[in-house]
Amino acid sequence: MSKIPKLRNDCFTLPLGAFWNPVDDALSLLKARLSCVVEKESCFVQDSDGRILAKSVLAPRSHPPCPNTAVDGYAVSGAISAGAQSYQLLDGRAAAGEAFAGSVSAGEALRVLTGAALPAGAQTVVLQEDVLIQDGIIEVNGPLELGSNARATGEDITVGAVLLKAGHKLTPQDLGMLVAVGVSKVEVFKPLRVVVISTGTELRAPGSEAQTEQIYDVNSPMLSAILRRWNLHVIEFGIVQDDPEALRKALDRAAECADVIITSGGASAGDEDHLSAILNATGTMALWRIAVKPGRPLALGVWNGTAIFGLPGNPVAAFVCLLIFARPALSQLAGAGFTRPEPLMLPAAFDKKKKPGRREYLRARLRSGRVDIFASEGSGRISGLSWSDGLVELTEDETSVIQGQLVRYLPYSSFGL
Ligand code: AMP
Ligand code: MG
Repeated sequence: MSKIPKLRNDCFTLPLGAFWNPVDDALSLLKARLSCVVEKESCFVQDSDGRILAKSVLAPRSHPPCPNTAVDGYAVSGAISAGAQSYQLLDGRAAAGEAFAGSVSAGEALRVLTGAALPAGAQTVVLQEDVLIQDGIIEVNGPLELGSNARATGEDITVGAVLLKAGHKLTPQDLGMLVAVGVSKVEVFKPLRVVVISTGTELRAPGSEAQTEQIYDVNSPMLSAILRRWNLHVIEFGIVQDDPEALRKALDRAAECADVIITSGGASAGDEDHLSAILNATGTMALWRIAVKPGRPLALGVWNGTAIFGLPGNPVAAFVCLLIFARPALSQLAGAGFTRPEPLMLPAAFDKKKKPGRREYLRARLRSGRVDIFASEGSGRISGLSWSDGLVELTEDETSVIQGQLVRYLPYSSFGL
C-alpha cells in the first residue's frame, strides 16, 4: 500500500478573520499545505520526456568515457615544440568505434579520425591540414600545446556526478545527456491523475445541439488540453447538472480514480452554486476570496481524501485561476515542487488605470518588443484568450500604466503552454 501521507481535511483552511487574501498569501498557503501525492515507478530513459524525477540521477560513467580526438589528423605523444618537427607515421589508424591496438611513442604519429579513442601514449592531435606527409614522415610546424584537438576523459561529465535532482521535469535535452553517460532507466513519479468536471445546467457538450439559452462547455476541452500539456493524466467527466445529488455522485466516482479533482462553475454562494454548498457540508471547504481579477472565489476542499480545486465557471477566470493557482499546486502534488514562472519586464504598448489593492491579469501579447492588451477586459470575451500569447500581471500597488512603462509579462510558454 501507498506510504504517501493523505491530505489533511483542514489543509485548505484559511487563518480566521481573513477576507480578501493577497495572491501571494494564497500561493504561500498552497505551497505550505500541499505535498507530493503520487507514487514512484521506473521508466526507460527513452520514454521519460516530461516525467518528473523521483530520485536524483548520478552519472554511471564519464563523458567522454576515454580521451578522444575532436578532429581528423595525427596523434602524437606529448606537446609539439616550436619550429619544424617531424614524426614517423605508424601503420594503421584509429577511427570512431575502432581503437588502435598499439601505442604511440615519442617521435611517432598515428592517423586518427574524429571521435576515435586516442591511442595509448598519445595526448595531442595535429590537424590533417597542418601537416606535410612524405615517405612515411609527417612534418609539422610547432608549437602545439599538450592535449590540443583532443577531449579528455570526463571533461564534460565525471563519473558519479549528480546530473539531475529529484523533482526535475525531464526535457528532450536531459534524455540526451542521460543516454550519453549510459543511464537506461530513471525513477519517476507516476503521472498525477486529474478528473475534470464542468458544472452547469446551461452547458452542452461540444458538437451537440444547443438551444439559444444553452451554451457550449468551453472549460472541459480547454482546461483538459492545458492539463495534458502539463503531462498530467486527465480523466474528463464532462458536464454535471446543477443538482447536488448528481454532483455528489460525480465527486464520489472522481475521488476513486483521481489524485485531484478540478471543477469549474458553481463555486460561489448563489442558489445554484452546489459545489460550494456540498463542500461546505463536508467541513473541508475553504472559499478563498483572493484579491485578483479575473477570478471569483476559488473553492478548495477535500472529498474522500482527494483535493478539489473549484474554479470559477467563467472561462476567462477559470483559465487564469488554473494558470496562477492550480498550476503550482498541481506541480507540488505531482512531485515537481511549487513552480512559478519568472515574468519578463517589457515596455507597455497601452495606457491603463487600475484600482489599488488587488492583482490583475490582463490578456496580452508581445509584438515588436512591446506588450499590448486585449481591447476589452470583459471576462466574458473568450476570443481574448485565443488572441493573447500571455498575461500582463499588474501588482496590488500599481494604479496606472502608461505606454513605454515596463510591465510584468508572463508568456503562456512560461506556464508550459
Ligand atoms: P458560475 O461560476 O457557475 O456561476 O458560472 C459563471 C459564468 O460562466 C456563467 O455565465 C456560466 O454560464 C459560465 N460558465 C460556467 N461554466 C462554463 C463552461 N464550462 N463553459 C462555458 N461557460 C461556462
Ligand atoms: Mg453555474
